[in-house]
Amino acid sequence: MAPAMDLPKTYDFSEVERRWQETWREEDNYFQDESDKPRFVIDTPPPYPTGNFHIGNAFNWCYIDFIARYKRMLGYNVMFPQGWDCHGLPTEVKVEEIHGITKNDVPREEFRRMCRELTLGNIEKMRSTLRRLGFSIDWSHEYITMLPGYFQKTQVSFLKMLQSGYIYQSEHPVNFCTRCETAIAFAEVAYEPRTTTLNYFDFDGVEIATTRPELLAACVAVAVHPDDDRYRSIRGRHLKVPIFGHSVPVILDEAVDPEFGSGAVMICTFGDKQDVHWWKQHDLELRKAIDRNGRMTPIAGKYAGMKSGECREAILADMKREDILRSTEPLEQRVGTCWRCTTPIEIMSERQWFVRIVPEEIMDAAREIRWNPEHMFLRMENWVDQMEWDWCISRQRIFATPIPVWFCQACGRMIVPDESMLPLDPTVTPPPGPCPDCGSTDISGEEDVLDTWMDSSISVLNITGWNGEDTPTIFPAQLRPQGHDIIRTWAFYTILRSVALTGQKPWEEILVNGMVLGEDGFKMSKSRGNIISPEEIVSEHGADALRQWAAAGAATGSDIMFIWNDV
Ligand SMILES: [Zn+2]
Ligand SMILES: [Zn+2]
Repeated sequence: MAPAMDLPKTYDFSEVERRWQETWREEDNYFQDESDKPRFVIDTPPPYPTGNFHIGNAFNWCYIDFIARYKRMLGYNVMFPQGWDCHGLPTEVKVEEIHGITKNDVPREEFRRMCRELTLGNIEKMRSTLRRLGFSIDWSHEYITMLPGYFQKTQVSFLKMLQSGYIYQSEHPVNFCTRCETAIAFAEVAYEPRTTTLNYFDFDGVEIATTRPELLAACVAVAVHPDDDRYRSIRGRHLKVPIFGHSVPVILDEAVDPEFGSGAVMICTFGDKQDVHWWKQHDLELRKAIDRNGRMTPIAGKYAGMKSGECREAILADMKREDILRSTEPLEQRVGTCWRCTTPIEIMSERQWFVRIVPEEIMDAAREIRWNPEHMFLRMENWVDQMEWDWCISRQRIFATPIPVWFCQACGRMIVPDESMLPLDPTVTPPPGPCPDCGSTDISGEEDVLDTWMDSSISVLNITGWNGEDTPTIFPAQLRPQGHDIIRTWAFYTILRSVALTGQKPWEEILVNGMVLGEDGFKMSKSRGNIISPEEIVSEHGADALRQWAAAGAATGSDIMFIWNDV
């Protein structure tokens, strides 16, 4: 009988794929440190270890794998590493749920240990999915951002940028989520349409409209347009703030829209970004009415301690009682919310750490990179163009890379560790000695931690072997594959950090992939119930079916809708 006749009638994909997985040797995928071949280093995205490898990830990894295999066949020395971007709020919340605690119930180090344990378990689950999908990953170049080997580099990069003046500490208005109890960056603010109420009330004889009466205690000025004749008589005067009674100046500013509300606006510290702008421009006083937990501060008088929403209702009721509330109307507004928990953000003036943004530097490097598809470059350009504030990198959380500095409690001097002491947590490790300025030993470690983008924005420096000093010989990498949803974060921050730390672009090319949408055409999300897991597809149809679907799927940069029949 001819051998061909031995072929089974049906293709048993699970048996065949299992056999091939055993045949492929992991070492064949390793990048060779010593090699004459041209190199091809891929800055693979490090997923957040939720425990489930998302279909969108699977789709992107198919592409990366096609490229890696193709390049190997062409004779390139390919690095297809795999990282895990571990830190962040979702894991903290999960740990609180699992253990029935809040983060302040246990010592910081204990809480971090619980987060690490959960994360390592999740990584193991996701690794096995990656293996099952047959991706030719170079596991000798795996990295885990929460482990000392990696966050040591994050801390070194922090100190380098502190020394070179890119990083500074300052009291400045920042976006703050009172539910997550942390500052967040502009890239993390999601603007959502919401219907709010515009309240017209009598402000010492002038009609003013506001959606945030709870900020009355934080009112520092009233502004009108210089050409608005209705308000000629109050120019240069001071007005008395209703209910609270403090006096504020009337200022003139071209940015006031005479058509909106009554044409007179109250400036509070801070209702929105425009308030920040006016506050700086006119050198106004700072009045902080809402604290980090979203409660009213003592300057709110009898409303102190109330949640800001309760305070709004109480003030409106008091306005009615005093007969100064004239009318109300609904208003469609785009409200800035926390991208993780959708709580409306507050703008607060806080002592925080910032990275200086130098737009020209970033754009010069971005222009040297090949953008594929080309129009994605415009997204970067638009984002950089409208950048007004520096990047706020400090967070008031726990499961994150510690900021490695101490402060002298006697004179305020900042004490920086020697790089050889890293990695360290300054709330655990004592400083190298007494304060060099005043000799005091009353020294405390910085409790703020770093934004997780500070970890992932050096992924390319990490895989190319950056040691904190010299630019690695295999830098820049050849390719950054990523989704278009993180251009303003991961791509932007990586270029910024690469320029600041090496003076060079991070990669030669960036390949921007589309997102995988659910069968209903919407982005996959738990709330829509339209999530499909790669494991589901693989157990039903096999890994090859999934890979072929991705290959046939979409042009780069476009979204792709998941439809079972396509598999
Ligand atoms: Zn939040
Ligand atoms: Zn001192």
